[in-house]
Amino acid sequence: LSFDGAAGELVGEPNEGLKAMFAMMNTERIAVGIQGLAVAEASRQNAVAYARQRLQGRAATGVKAPELAADPIIVHADVRRMLMTQKALVEGSRMLALWAAQMLDVSERHADPAARRAAFDFVQLMTPVVKSFLTDVGSEAANLGVQILGGHGYIRGNGQEQFVRDVRVTQIYEGTNGIQAHDLLGRKVLQLDLIGSFTRPVKEFIAGVSQGDALDEFVAPLSEALGRLESVTMLLRQRGLRDPDEIGAAAVDYMRLFALTALGFLWAKAVAVSLPRGNDAFHRAKIATARFFIARVLPQAASLHTAIVTGAAPVMELDESMF
Ligand SMILES: Cc1cc2nc3c(=O)[nH]c(=O)nc-3n(C[C@H](O)[C@H](O)[C@H](O)COP(=O)(O)OP(=O)(O)OC[C@H]3O[C@@H](n4cnc5c(N)ncnc54)[C@H](O)[C@@H]3O)c2cc1C
Repeated sequence: LSFDGAAGELVGEPNEGLKAMFAMMNTERIAVGIQGLAVAEASRQNAVAYARQRLQGRAATGVKAPELAADPIIVHADVRRMLMTQKALVEGSRMLALWAAQMLDVSERHADPAARRAAFDFVQLMTPVVKSFLTDVGSEAANLGVQILGGHGYIRGNGQEQFVRDVRVTQIYEGTNGIQAHDLLGRKVLQLDLIGSFTRPVKEFIAGVSQGDALDEFVAPLSEALGRLESVTMLLRQRGLRDPDEIGAAAVDYMRLFALTALGFLWAKAVAVSLPRGNDAFHRAKIATARFFIARVLPQAASLHTAIVTGAAPVMELDESMF
């Protein structure tokens, strides 16, 4: 495999040395992403256990546990908001990690060279997303974990603050998340034009869902987020030629927009699997968590889109001496 500068793309089959290097980089970055995800899940489990037993206040809709001095805090809507955010981000990120890991296997082991190559493109594209988004989720979820425990979250013996400190480095090492975002937008999307290996399966999935279908509730917002991602990709392709700061100013927001769109797709797929089996608690929880993600997290795509479209000028306006 070599990089053809004029064509702006990788050509040929990877040689053994490059294969080993890519395998190591991909493995390390995916592993750090999984580290972020693992801390998020540990913090989430700790927070759920605490919210079930900590007594404080009464439910806004009326007393839920009259035999106790107060209701457990899991009855409160704001505590639910935090627990649901953790759950939707953690389970969505787990699907993303598994998708990337499965394609990594395909890129190494599939009998068909064309399938190996397509999977290799996908892994290249998604590796910075897995590294940076899953570690961002790690920090976000661990911070929510502290908040759910209130003052007890700040106490070392309860473990939650340790998760925040431990996970923070994952956003820095193996390439900072800012650099991962540059790799995604500048190299993987604009230079190598690999975005189709992500958008193609998303579009195929959307095209298979007809209007009025029960899945429409999930697929319509997904389709909107994908449209936003594609429109800013086109915009940045043009603006980046004029002013390279447009790429740097947009990269981190672009990364999150990309990752949220990917999670929207994976949650919609999870619903497609769960709807026919929706009588048991596991599948009902999947559908409800997907609904929370689509209705309460994915709308961030609109503000990320607005910030990206606004461009680099407000980021770069201040003279260095004025900071
Ligand atoms: C606990 C810990 C363990 C580590 N373990 C290892 C290890 O085992 N092996 C190893 O090799 N390394 C290791 N590292 C190093 C780690 O990979 C680097 O710290 C990391 O890649 C960031 O580099 P830096 O610290 O030089 O930060 P800098 O590169 O100085 O970055 C500082 C800030 O500037 C930004 N920035 C830098 N350059 C650019 C640019 N061109 N465009 C836009 N923004 C930019 C960064 O995103 C960051 O926000 C470890 C680091 C830590 C903290």
